[in-house]
Amino acid sequence: MIIAIDGPAASGKGTLARNLARHFDLPHLDTGLLYRATARALMEQGRNLADKAAAIAAARGLALTDFDEASLRGREMAEAASIVAAIPEVRAALVELQRAFARRPGGAVLDGRDIGTVICPEACTKIFVTASAEARATRRALELSAQGGRTDYAAVLEEILRRDARDKNRATAPLVPAKDAIVLDTTALDAQAAFKAALAIVQGTRSVAARG
Ligand code: C5P
Repeated sequence: MIIAIDGPAASGKGTLARNLARHFDLPHLDTGLLYRATARALMEQGRNLADKAAAIAAARGLALTDFDEASLRGREMAEAASIVAAIPEVRAALVELQRAFARRPGGAVLDGRDIGTVICPEACTKIFVTASAEARATRRALELSAQGGRTDYAAVLEEILRRDARDKNRATAPLVPAKDAIVLDTTALDAQAAFKAALAIVQGTRSVAARG
């Protein structure tokens, strides 16, 4: 069983993917970490994020064991990730790693921007998680202030809108719901309510698959 979760920044897709993985006892891959780790490798080498050859080499050199999540989570890294993620060859270099993860016996939960459209078009459940930009910015600002960071709601909203635009408008694997994805709007839902709604979607798609 492959569950593909896509959606924009701070839509709640990461928490949802983790909760679904725990519920179904499946491994979970947050594919944003691949792009964040690629960007970090470039920064550590003192390279420009637009250095295509270095970005492709960094992506090709990644392994799933490379991720120190804490150091990849920051706002700066999110922005940098979206820049390298627009390079088609970087995306191509990361496809097989993600597909191999999805093919694990029993299945997997993957979350990102192009899981249902490009990485796992065969996934039995595809959920496109969304929420208003204002709700997403409020969540992200609360998260940041809970971590003790300085937050400026207007700056967070601007970052989210800039990243949305870059992710939606790139030529390769843009952020768009798969034709067969079910859209889950979490603007008015907390994490528990979003999980309940997603569980109903998974159960629905599984019973359709079992009948088909
Ligand atoms: O999901 P997360 O915020 O960690 O993603 C960081 C950036 O990585 C996104 O803004 C997007 O540009 C890129 N990304 C992507 N495709 C994915 C996952 C993330 O392009 N499957």
